[in-house]
Amino acid sequence: MHEYSIMQSAISQVLREARQAGATRVHEIRLRVGALSGVVPDALRFAFEAVTDGTCAQGAVLTIEEVPARFWCAACRREFVSANLYSECPDCHNPSGELRAGRELELASMEVDT
Ligand SMILES: [Zn+2]
Repeated sequence: MHEYSIMQSAISQVLREARQAGATRVHEIRLRVGALSGVVPDALRFAFEAVTDGTCAQGAVLTIEEVPARFWCAACRREFVSANLYSECPDCHNPSGELRAGRELELASMEVDT
């Protein structure tokens, strides 16, 4: 499962940072997930439970911030938001140009107890 290995590496980063901060418990983890990152948020949540089991992040709240895909139309010099990779500019109807956001998959922030 793709999401499982993603979550494993995210949590190992969280645990490393928590250890460096001298934290005893992780309360909340926020992940930023782009609409086009190719991961399923529900699958991430499921993996989260398995991966944090027995760690100091067990029972932490997982918050997933979904980032919409944003494209840049060079002809109109404007950005537009779309839910899929193949879409067109709402003004000039040219096919979607440069992808500016939507592939993120990163740790946004975390809250710990020290
Ligand atoms: Zn356009």
